[in-house]
Amino acid sequence: MEKVINYIKSNSDNYLEQLKDYLRIPSVSTSVKHKKDMKKCADYVASQLKSAGMKKVKIIPTAGHPLVFGELIHDKKLPTVLIYGHYDVQPVDPLNLWKSPPFEPVIKNGKIWARGANDNKGQNFVHIKSVEAFKKTNTNLPVNIKYLIEGEEEIGSPNLSKFLKRNQSLLSCDAVMISDTSIYQPGVPTINYGLRGLCFMEVEVIGPNRDLHSGSFGGAVANPINVLADMISKLTDKNGKITITDFYKDVQKLTPQERANYKKLKFSDAKFAKELGVKELAGEKGFSTLERLSGRPTLDCNGIWGGYIEEGAKTVLPSKAYAKISMRLVPNQDPKTIAKLFTKYFKQIAPKSVKVNVNALHGGLPIVISLEHPAVKAAAKASSKAFGKETVFSREGGSIPIVVEFAKQLKAPTILMGLGLDTDNIHSPNEHFSVDNFKRGILASAYFFYEFAKIK
Ligand SMILES: [Zn+2]
Repeated sequence: MEKVINYIKSNSDNYLEQLKDYLRIPSVSTSVKHKKDMKKCADYVASQLKSAGMKKVKIIPTAGHPLVFGELIHDKKLPTVLIYGHYDVQPVDPLNLWKSPPFEPVIKNGKIWARGANDNKGQNFVHIKSVEAFKKTNTNLPVNIKYLIEGEEEIGSPNLSKFLKRNQSLLSCDAVMISDTSIYQPGVPTINYGLRGLCFMEVEVIGPNRDLHSGSFGGAVANPINVLADMISKLTDKNGKITITDFYKDVQKLTPQERANYKKLKFSDAKFAKELGVKELAGEKGFSTLERLSGRPTLDCNGIWGGYIEEGAKTVLPSKAYAKISMRLVPNQDPKTIAKLFTKYFKQIAPKSVKVNVNALHGGLPIVISLEHPAVKAAAKASSKAFGKETVFSREGGSIPIVVEFAKQLKAPTILMGLGLDTDNIHSPNEHFSVDNFKRGILASAYFFYEFAKIK
């Protein structure tokens, strides 16, 4: 163990130089122009996996960009960790806003600057170098390792789900490790153990059979926009609770431990409100802002339209009004059930003066990994060791569909060991990654293998 840790510590500057090679390849997945670079980048990842001691390394073609797979099963009795990451990056424009060229990485002010430095090359390289250190020091890995590094994450992973479905035994594992999120605050190691799901609806409220003159008809005929506004306001009550019948029925309550964890995270409501330019925050009563941001379900109207919206006035009483309404879900809510409950309720609260159509556009499942899971415990311990600080736990307000896919297809928990910072400009000009987080990340990864093998 000590040998591996010392080796990593004394080589961390070399690792940075190697990361630069990875970052120099302009692997922009969305652009046809970079098709050759994508292949080159997949080759680079494959060579790195070989150097990390993987016995089986394959570049797997897909209908889009190739996947890179690597595997070292050296003892069937040991637990297996699947490391997932992506080698593709976002486009770089607007180019003129970059302080240094996006594919010429530089190290400045304790950060490495380049497209992909954080998202996701820097973060997945961490887990390649940690494994490599075992090989270089002739130390037996305490776990079996598999890698799945894809080239289509930034375009929505169109081919990954199919691949998972067809290759469940190839990818079977005891835990999936992903570093593609952020730590809560600089220097504070963070394990993300939950993601919200989504249920997205579109509604149509239909009044008279044609647009009417508001002078000749106003006062006698229901206005669909007025009705829709009233109906939307009825979806939540004055305490910020969602009023849809049975909406909370399947909600998994936050445990006392989770609520205590939320409390431990430093957060200022006043500062948050100020940053957003609002005088006061809003939301469900009885829960802290952080709890409302990731541990509780929400309902928001995302768009509303109808009638006359061009310049100047037009005295119309419109025939139709529309809105898009989304709900963020938490375990064990199911988007299909929620869509049904929404539809039933929305029709129920419609006055007789209008007709209502409701459509479910799309949805995604929420997920939470038990804090008691050995992989979560091991990751927390490992991160604490690497950062010299207590690990905090957080849940994400948004969704990462691939995590749900891993749970569904591989029946394995995913550990989100984020190493980025929210200020790293991912997807923006001047993307960067903290050198300190990079170096500590490699240590955390190596410690994780030990801790997971111990607990498992
Ligand atoms: Zn990204």
